[in-house]
Amino acid sequence: VTPFDPNVPVPLFILTIGDELLSGERVDLNGPWLARTLEPLGFVVREMLTVGDEEGPLMDALSRALLLGGLVVTSGGLGPTSDDRTRDVVARLLGRPLQVDPDIVAQLEQRYRARGLPGTPEPALKMAGVPLGAETLPNPRGVAPGLAIAEGNRRCVLLPGVPVEFKAIVESAMIPRLDAWFPHRAPGPVSALVHTTGIAESVLSGQLEPALAEGGGLAGASWAYRPSLRGVELRFSAVGGEAPAVLQELLRRAEPVLAPYRIEAGSGDLAEWVLRLCGDRNWRIALAESCTGGMVAARLTAVPGSSRAFLGGVVAYDNRVKQDLLEVPATLLNQHGAVSGPVVEAMAQGVARRFGAEVALSVSGVAGPGGGTEAKPVGEVWFALSSPLGGVSWRQRFPGERDEVRERATQHALHRMAQALAGSSPISG
Ligand code: ATP
Ligand code: MG
Repeated sequence: VTPFDPNVPVPLFILTIGDELLSGERVDLNGPWLARTLEPLGFVVREMLTVGDEEGPLMDALSRALLLGGLVVTSGGLGPTSDDRTRDVVARLLGRPLQVDPDIVAQLEQRYRARGLPGTPEPALKMAGVPLGAETLPNPRGVAPGLAIAEGNRRCVLLPGVPVEFKAIVESAMIPRLDAWFPHRAPGPVSALVHTTGIAESVLSGQLEPALAEGGGLAGASWAYRPSLRGVELRFSAVGGEAPAVLQELLRRAEPVLAPYRIEAGSGDLAEWVLRLCGDRNWRIALAESCTGGMVAARLTAVPGSSRAFLGGVVAYDNRVKQDLLEVPATLLNQHGAVSGPVVEAMAQGVARRFGAEVALSVSGVAGPGGGTEAKPVGEVWFALSSPLGGVSWRQRFPGERDEVRERATQHALHRMAQALAGSSPISG
């Protein structure tokens, strides 16, 4: 048996079992949770695999798991029914015959009687079967205990699939044993999340990769890009003895590239940043939204404590609302159309006046799928922002279908607001 390298985390193999996971009827709640939970404790997930309840695939997967993993954790198939095969397959694979554990028999008896049954139903007795030499891990939330089997320096842990039971056994019985099972293991990776917005993933990586390479490779360093409609989230990580210093160095190298796009809020939410920027100066925000239909307002009000800086908004969808409530002159609408600089400026001024707000933002655009023209295609959106720092209107084109255009326009509006109020982009221009 070769010992694990004490300088690296222990390889973890997670095997989730169940036809309902394969078919998509249930979403796996155990594997990702376990990965997140064990990573900081010095384990790195090598593979997370899902198989059905059939014996053959389960046997194959377990053999593979035992080759790759230092710690192998299975979820599911420990119960009393005929489709629960995990314990039998493991017993056969490892050549450890099942033995009836009298303590479990007694616990089962007690549990079923407590539920008002005359005794343990025959099929449930299966759960008292323990592979020779296995340690039982008590289940505080259910009947089937977990089982831990030592194979040289590896550990194979079998857990029930019901998520509350799975988590309860991991927390109360498995984690407390990890130091005894794997006494020499490197600490888990350290990592930092940076939320960016307003830059495409490919452009960002084009700038970031050379910056990160500057000064030579860093042992144990890694980083990953996670794009979404709201921006690109970056995760920087480092493992090994020098991990904290390596992480600091990564962040130092990345800083000049990331600074203009970084979202200055712990949650990574632009709305939080905008509210803080206004709240700090006692400025209040009013919105006039057309194509985003209140989505900017929804983002702001989703942040706890938003009432400190957010007054309210008008969903000015129909031109009559733009005229009646926001006092947009009919001549502007006729001359330039609702999606235009002069109209968004009038909308922002109108809502600022009506609400008595220091900061006003307006949005009007063509979200699609209909309504586009050659001059104003689908995805074209106008914005105006006014604040004590000045006023500005601008036009932006967004790719994608209706939902995407609206989501991107909302994020863009919040981003430009934050930049303007933070002073990192000119307010008028
Ligand atoms: P039981 O003793 O309840 O039979 P078990 O170990 O046999 O436990 P399963 O029969 O595989 O577990 O699953 C029991 C229930 O838990 C099912 O409703 C199943 O859909 C759900 N379940 C199993 N695995 C997962 C998982 N990874 N994520 C979410 N739900 C799961
Ligand atoms: Mg079951």
